Formats: sequence, C-alpha cells, structure tokens
Amino acid sequence: MLELVYRFDPTGRHTPDPPADPAEARRRLEDGNRAFSTDPLAAGPTRRVLHVDADDLGLPTEDGKAPTQRPFAAVLACSDARAPVEVVFGQGCNRLFVVRVAGNVLGSECLGSLDFAVTNFDESLRLVVVLGHSRCGAVSAAVDSFLNPSQYLAYAPSHPLRAVVDRLMVPVRAAHQAVGRAWGHGIGDRPGYRDALIGTAVGLNAALTAATVRQELREHLGPAREVVYGVYDLVTRRVGVPIGVPGESRFAPGLVPPPADLTGFDQLGIAIATSPPVRDLLA
Ligand SMILES: [Zn+2]
Repeated sequence: MLELVYRFDPTGRHTPDPPADPAEARRRLEDGNRAFSTDPLAAGPTRRVLHVDADDLGLPTEDGKAPTQRPFAAVLACSDARAPVEVVFGQGCNRLFVVRVAGNVLGSECLGSLDFAVTNFDESLRLVVVLGHSRCGAVSAAVDSFLNPSQYLAYAPSHPLRAVVDRLMVPVRAAHQAVGRAWGHGIGDRPGYRDALIGTAVGLNAALTAATVRQELREHLGPAREVVYGVYDLVTRRVGVPIGVPGESRFAPGLVPPPADLTGFDQLGIAIATSPPVRDLLA
C-alpha cells in the first residue's frame, strides 16, 4: 500500500527557487518522473510526504493577491488523458507552462503559446520540452492513413482533423524510411509493422517538433534556456529517449536536445527503429 500525504504548512514555503540553468531544470523533471514511475507496490507498504505551499495549492498569497506565474519549464505535450504532464514529471502548481494538443503537433496557436512563455517568464523559464508518448492515437491515425491512404478519406472533409493528421505525415514517412533501413524493406509484411511504425514515428515526431521549436524560438535560447524532447512510455511510466546504434540501441531515461542536422536525425531514426520496444514488435 502507498500512502500519499500532502502536508501544507501555511507559514512555510517549500516551492523551490527557479533552477539556475537548463541542466538543473532537466534534473528536476527527470527526478520527478523517476519518483512517479517507481512502482510503490514493489517497495512494500510505504508513505510518501509531499510538502506543498500556497503556490502549489493555487491559494492567494498573504496579501490576498494571486501568485505570480513562475514556471521553470514550458512543455508541449499530447492531450492524451493517460499522460498528464504535471503528474508525469511530479510537479505542482506554478512549475510548468503546459501546452497540450493531440499528437503534440506544432500549430501556430501552440507556437504562439510557447513564444509567450519564453518572452514573459525570462527570470524563471529554463527549459522548453516536447513530450511525445507511446501508443499515441493521433500518430496511429497518421500511420493508418499512410499505410492505407483510403483511410485518409475519413479526415479529408474535416479541416480541424487534417490539421493534426497532416502535421504528422512527415515523421511517419521518416519512420517508414528508418524502419526500412534498419530491418530491410520487406519488413512491411511483418504483423508488428504498424505498431513498430507508430513507435518510431512517436519518437521522431517529438524530436522533429523539438528541432522546429528550437529554430522558431532561437532568439530566446542560449546558455540560460534550451529545448529538449522525450517520450513518455505508458507501460513503464518513464520518460526517455532511444539512443545508440544498430545492435546496441536502448531506451534511456531522461530528456535530450534534438539532433542538430540531417545525419543526426538519420541516426536517431535507426536508433529508435532498433531499440528494444520497436525491435520486440517486429520479432
Ligand atoms: Zn497522443
């Protein structure tokens, strides 16, 4: 049994100061996800105490005013109900500026929201994160349209739906090429090919979107602020990225910057396509 205790001391203050740099911001998110993903049942009966203060609870300050908004990271993530961003990263109120949209695609409204964050939270914001997740329904819809174009007819009459699916076609096409290069182009006949394509496209979509965000917000980035990406696994509840080369790829916990060039994206595609979660689907 896990007992979660939220302890509020009205006279205390537990909200940490903003991180000093992007590395510390990344560590806070990674530490929060490690704690969230630890299986509480495996450790036996345990009690976890979370200290919260007025900011965490969204309570007004002593003078009756609303807390000042001071997020240390902006996160672009999918709307999927199984991947709540603050919970996944173990963060309370006023720590994250979250933009959620199906498939974590980068439409102009989402980019405008991220632009607002980097422009207005200069003193606290150290990180911009793009977070994909496994088994993404939006990516699955794009993969199904790619594999069977007649299915695209279901989205064709709807501009709002196309706005999501169309933006995912480039990472899906890139995933198709990566899986083909990694395993041979006859791999498309394997039963697990569709799921392997979804798994690869999820990672490439997060990385490509992060690279685009980095380009778009370049005037607001530097030593004090960077862009990273990761994929949330719905089964292990870990956020991580595939790394390595064919034969040695693995899923490593954490958040990393997206590749800087085409070669880097080619290597990333191979790393994802040969990483254990995708390899197992094709076995
Ligand atoms: Zn999703």
